[in-house]
Amino acid sequence: MSANQPLAPYHRITIKIGSALLVDRAGKLRAAWLAGLATDIAALKAEGRDIVVVSSGAIALGRGLLGLSATTLTLEQSQAAASAGQIALSQAWAEALGQHGIVTGQILITPNITEERRYYLNARTTIQTLLGLGAIPIINENDSVATAEIRYGDNDRLSARVATMIEADLLVLLSDIDGLYTAPPARDPSASHIPLVETITPAIEAMAGGAASHLSRGGMTTKVEAGKIATQAGTAMIIAKGTEPHPLRSLAEGGLHTLFQPVASRAQSRKRWIMGTLQVSGSVQIDAGAVRALNQGRSLLPVGVTRINGDFERGDTIAIAGPDGREIARGLSGLDSADARQVIGKHRDTIIALLGAGSRSELVHRDNLVLIGAKEELHS
Ligand code: GLU
Repeated sequence: MSANQPLAPYHRITIKIGSALLVDRAGKLRAAWLAGLATDIAALKAEGRDIVVVSSGAIALGRGLLGLSATTLTLEQSQAAASAGQIALSQAWAEALGQHGIVTGQILITPNITEERRYYLNARTTIQTLLGLGAIPIINENDSVATAEIRYGDNDRLSARVATMIEADLLVLLSDIDGLYTAPPARDPSASHIPLVETITPAIEAMAGGAASHLSRGGMTTKVEAGKIATQAGTAMIIAKGTEPHPLRSLAEGGLHTLFQPVASRAQSRKRWIMGTLQVSGSVQIDAGAVRALNQGRSLLPVGVTRINGDFERGDTIAIAGPDGREIARGLSGLDSADARQVIGKHRDTIIALLGAGSRSELVHRDNLVLIGAKEELHS
């Protein structure tokens, strides 16, 4: 990886922008800064990259719009501010990227969407479809309805979940500081900059301290938390300074930053997750031909399935057994059990006739499938 061109290796980049960059202390949009950032984003997109933006700033903008000047808002006030501000925020992005002929799509997220497989798959499909259509998804937390118990509350961790959900290879957190220091530099002038974090150790966590800026919720602590989420799922993370007029261009040209290296490949981490953390919701039995196909690394097609047990939703984990009933693999089902029952033993053309042209032709895609024999290799 070239240290001179930090963004060069990455194809799908999630960029998180903090409130303090987008909104000034008076609650006004920093329109000129956003225009510069939009130029940078358009340039990255023109190079063929998929870009997804996670933008804060709804509450900060809404405060200004609603004339809420108190230092601390009540929960109700901040939810009202988020509601008013989100419209302004979306409009600002649509206009800024629209200048470059780029269409934006808004997606508001609550934790159930990133944590529950069914919602997760739908949100991911929407984001992928937007990207496929050349648009840029603009994502924020759905602050106006999220309750105190079920919210991220900070867009650092939210952006890490989004980045891993869409299998971005990089998450960039644009902040008011150019990376991680051995101690918060505002408190300790002798603190030194850390260019590379290979593993997030307790010592690294301790360096994050607790300092937050005037508007952001997170500070360095939630950024390091975001780093843990991202790197464990195979997504690299960069913290870079966003205050310059062209922050992504500066970064692409080698600007100071901290890179958090991924600890696992994305495929490895998804497979580990399939094997380790999910309940099995149902099972299927497959024929000898399908067993051979799976052993050759291919997807599980309905034609090779002889039996479906249990009720499951699309995206649930299912056990896959061979003709002798022994479990040989696990995977995420591409169909719910009702649709799956209709199409087992059938070929693609019949499946399309039964379920429609948009339906999936695999019961379990090979990317979402783990052979039981391969388990050890995943834990290495
Ligand atoms: N979602 C919040 C907003 O748009 C920002 C949360 C954060 O600062 O991390 O205002």
